[in-house]
Amino acid sequence: MNFELTQEHRLIQKTAKEFAQNELLPEVLKRDESKIWPKEAVAKMADLGFLGIMVDEKYGGSGMDTISYTIAMEEIAKVDAAASVIMSVNNSLVCSLLSKFGDEFQKEIFLKKLSKGEKLGAFSLSEPQSGSDASNMLTFAKKENDSYILNGTKNWVTNGKNSDIVIVAALTTKDVGHKGISCFIVEKSFDGFESGKPEKKLGIRSSDTTELYFDNVRVPKENLIGEEGDGFKICLETLDGGRIGIASQALGIAQASLDASIKYSKERKQFNKPIAAFQALQFKIADMNTELVAARQMVRLAAFKLDTGDSEKTTYCAMAKRYATDVGFNVCNEALQVHGGYGYIKEYPLERHVRDVRVHQILEGTNEIMRVIIARRILAESASDVL
Ligand SMILES: Cc1cc2nc3c(=O)[nH]c(=O)nc-3n(C[C@H](O)[C@H](O)[C@H](O)COP(=O)(O)OP(=O)(O)OC[C@H]3O[C@@H](n4cnc5c(N)ncnc54)[C@H](O)[C@@H]3O)c2cc1C
Repeated sequence: MNFELTQEHRLIQKTAKEFAQNELLPEVLKRDESKIWPKEAVAKMADLGFLGIMVDEKYGGSGMDTISYTIAMEEIAKVDAAASVIMSVNNSLVCSLLSKFGDEFQKEIFLKKLSKGEKLGAFSLSEPQSGSDASNMLTFAKKENDSYILNGTKNWVTNGKNSDIVIVAALTTKDVGHKGISCFIVEKSFDGFESGKPEKKLGIRSSDTTELYFDNVRVPKENLIGEEGDGFKICLETLDGGRIGIASQALGIAQASLDASIKYSKERKQFNKPIAAFQALQFKIADMNTELVAARQMVRLAAFKLDTGDSEKTTYCAMAKRYATDVGFNVCNEALQVHGGYGYIKEYPLERHVRDVRVHQILEGTNEIMRVIIARRILAESASDVL
């Protein structure tokens, strides 16, 4: 067993760190305050190969492993969580889905552009009435000659406004539960497809989250991913990797919060001493560091299991997401406490970190649903007991 990062891992870590410091840090507060989508930074991410990290080089990607992805995500989330959310959707939801389930035509036409960042992707599963119970969707794709006619409303779509291509899950057969769901590649330019206004969010404010409306949108049958009825399985398998991205973002935000706390606690004096001299704060910092190290190992283990196709990968991805995002929130919250009143105002980074980290306990399956997935798999008698 080897816990050392490889040379390739160290290189992507260095590149991502420099990119975050040079390109994201200077305007991050302004973007957060004014909800400005980081257009130029996303273009630079594309130049660095950060939008298709795990995609085969044959399809324009960087051909790296999932641990490389977690490392890059963490470095970027340390500085700008909203930018890391944009990156995570394109990588681990859109590109990974097409790499694994797309046919040669879809890889040539769509994946190549998405992995090079010439187009940006979004992933649309949730609907207003179906969040955790994702298969309870209403969006319907009716087969008509060589096309499907798509009607419905989706919500909570990250990159909903700024993407060019959206992976949409829709019913193709009613009344057969998740077996009636199919996945489609839908281009923003298709007639009848519109995105709504960006949601006003607590955190990750400079990433966009919107509703999507489909009014008789004609989708060519070549854009069906896999077979009719495969869609829900495709989405669930894809979310395994997505959850690694979410977990890595929470780690990055929490590490930045811990780093800020270490610095602040040595500088801030009360009772004629740096507050770092008080054991109460030392214990907080010790616990924050311990839990972050544990969470990081869990995320990298899940990434390894995903890449090696381990039969328990879904359980490990769910455990990593649940644990790292709960640790992430707790660490940020404790770091705010270390900063006292200064943690609560915008002059210090904790106010933003606490707002940004919170969503990760909800995104890509809530942490309650992660527990449902973990328990169901641990308690199952056989693989056929779980989807
Ligand atoms: C900023 C943001 C961006 C998002 N981006 C995307 C995206 O790009 N694409 C996409 O498809 N979706 C996206 N989502 C949607 C996200 O995945 C859902 O919000 C999430 O799955 C929860 O669904 P819900 O909000 O409808 O909550 P609900 O499902 O209504 O849950 C409400 C509460 O009930 C709990 N609960 C529900 N069922 C159970 C159960 N069986 N057992 C225990 N507890 C349960 C939940 O854990 C939660 O605490 C995004 C959401 C946000 C906030």
